[in-house]
Amino acid sequence: MATRINPRFSEELKKYGAINMNACYNCGTCTAVCSLSTTDDSFPREMVRLSVLGLEDDIKTSLKPWECYYCGECTTNCPQTANPGELMMSLRRWLTAKYDWTGLSGLLYKSMSLTLFAMLLVFAGVLYFANSVNFNLEQMLHTGHIFEMVAIGTIMFVIFVPNLLRMWNFTVLKAGVKAPFKTYVTALSDLFVHMFTQKRSKDCDEDDSFRWLEHFILVLSYLSLLFTTVFLNWFGTGSILIIIFGYIVSFLIFVVTVDFVSSRMKKKKSLNKFSQPSDWFFVIWLLLMGITAFMVRLFIDLNILESNKWMYILHLTVLAQWALIIVPFGKWTHFLYRSFAMYFSKVKSMALE
Ligand code: SF4
Ligand code: SF4
Repeated sequence: MATRINPRFSEELKKYGAINMNACYNCGTCTAVCSLSTTDDSFPREMVRLSVLGLEDDIKTSLKPWECYYCGECTTNCPQTANPGELMMSLRRWLTAKYDWTGLSGLLYKSMSLTLFAMLLVFAGVLYFANSVNFNLEQMLHTGHIFEMVAIGTIMFVIFVPNLLRMWNFTVLKAGVKAPFKTYVTALSDLFVHMFTQKRSKDCDEDDSFRWLEHFILVLSYLSLLFTTVFLNWFGTGSILIIIFGYIVSFLIFVVTVDFVSSRMKKKKSLNKFSQPSDWFFVIWLLLMGITAFMVRLFIDLNILESNKWMYILHLTVLAQWALIIVPFGKWTHFLYRSFAMYFSKVKSMALE
């Protein structure tokens, strides 16, 4: 099959956050300093070259952008300030848009005003719903709980499953890898290990294991809060253990995300220097999720939620915006695609062996 060159690829990638990549003169310093790059699996220089040349089909079949955990070493050492670390991040956003069959990821990544419009639309939808039940708290809580369950199932089967199949098609099938079914089963443990521990990020930034620990706490707290609110009905339960557990995990989400937001504002590390709107939406909405969930439960325990229904409407708005926009089409998907990239990478290496 002839290789297709997209002469406008640099322009396209700029919309996803790439900065100055055409300044690269191919010296290879970035690959030499990257602690995750190996002889067999070498990046980021190769990705910079493919991007500069506009070889987008080669990028689409590659899993390498997901192997970068953005420590920023390559960017710090690049003599041309071509920002290879930010390029890898932009490629992850671009790939996310390519995997997404709805096309919404790409539109939302490229347009801040469209994202804000979608957020406002969801807010209007929540207000319409609250008004339609005459702001009855019991009904709002009940429907909010059902919404969480329906949203999880729908996003999983309507968005994530097809998108992961597309990712598999691009990166494994189209890359010409024929792996027997047994290989997929054997490699499954890698999927879960990477999903829950993100252990490669420890090797990425050896001087900053605190960053890995924060991510680890955040992933566990987020998944625990999801489980506590959806399956243990945190806002409706009388179990003191579940109530305390929910307070702890929502508080942890709050603490970690406050640190993330403050790091992005201070811009001291290279991974925080060039935040895109999708990065801000992700951390801020995660922060709001932690705070508003904590406050709703606190208002229930203080018996003041009935007279402060706005608190639950605020939480429901944040939750709906998170579940309908950020999780299926925003930065949250990186968590999923990166874990599957590690899995497919393992499958590919086992098949080649
Ligand atoms: S991105 Fe920078 S460090 Fe990497 S090859 Fe190009 S010029 Fe060299
Ligand atoms: S940001 Fe870090 S992990 Fe990513 S390519 Fe650069 S050096 Fe490697």
